Amino acid sequence: MATQVSNFSAAQSDKLTPYSELAAKPQIKSDILVRLATFLQTSLDYQTLLTVFQREIAAAVLIDGLHFENTENNIDFSIGHKGPHSSSYQLKAQSEKLGDITFYRNTRFREHELANLEALMGTLVYPLRNAMRYRAALDQAFKDPLTGAGNRIALDDNLSREMELAKRHDYELSLLMLDLDHFKAINDTFGHLVGDEVLKAVVKTIQKCIRQTDICFRYGGEEFVVLLNNANVGNARLIAERIRMGISDLCIETDQGVLQATISSGLALLHPDDNVKDILRRADQALYKAKDTGRNKVIVGEKQEAAELCD
Ligand code: GH3
Ligand code: MG
Ligand code: MG
Repeated sequence: MATQVSNFSAAQSDKLTPYSELAAKPQIKSDILVRLATFLQTSLDYQTLLTVFQREIAAAVLIDGLHFENTENNIDFSIGHKGPHSSSYQLKAQSEKLGDITFYRNTRFREHELANLEALMGTLVYPLRNAMRYRAALDQAFKDPLTGAGNRIALDDNLSREMELAKRHDYELSLLMLDLDHFKAINDTFGHLVGDEVLKAVVKTIQKCIRQTDICFRYGGEEFVVLLNNANVGNARLIAERIRMGISDLCIETDQGVLQATISSGLALLHPDDNVKDILRRADQALYKAKDTGRNKVIVGEKQEAAELCD
């Protein structure tokens, strides 16, 4: 497999790709570049941009597949298929790293084709940078700034969607509601800044205990919700117990000595006739029971509790 890796920066392209007498020069008709640049102005979605890019460059250089990766932002996007020959570039807009792009082909790339690709990438870099910035801004809008967990907006969004998917595809969905025990006393004893550190440590612990497909949200001050996809009550209970033990094992060093915390949880399983409020209410009711019966425990919500509450 032939692979070539290069840096590609819009600002430094002439330095990194010295089109000397010997080097192949790009041969692209100006109307192709104008058309490509125009299309690339029409979207802030990186997948759309890369799809448009792959489609439009076909007029200048044929490729069989394209892969774009930005590990920091969890982006791994492919179009077409991977041929045995490839050419990779690290894309940068000035010093801003955008990710790595790889072009694949069944046949070898010729020098002038690579020169064409590099010239075409000049039109991609800034639209892609804007798309990446837009994506980062959107991500922030759905995140709790202290802990990095999803915020309430993200929960509302995800819960309705996950419930719909679970019902449509007939898989199980569990919702875990967690609340730190005696957190007010932790704040009072150790101060709010230490309290904040506890909240961050709790989210880290939750994230270590759940699977990649599960999502953790900050529901309120010291309350969290975890959506457990494809988890029946047994699996969900196991994860909930793992979280509970993970948190009770935490030892947070402070000026006033080591701090330990516990968490109480209420677990609710999705029922076919549930709406968003029903499942949240059932988990909340189970959490209340966990608090009422000694804290630092997991209680599974019963279907009839929601009904009782509605009466
Ligand atoms: P319980 O076991 O019954 O849940 O008792 P609790 O003390 O945890 O519950 P309570 O509702 O009385 O207190 C919650 C505390 O959480 C009060 C509030 O100041 C604190 N809190 C809420 N948000 C934050 C935050 O962002 N940072 C810090 N440090 N504290 C917070
Ligand atoms: Mg609370
Ligand atoms: Mg609490």
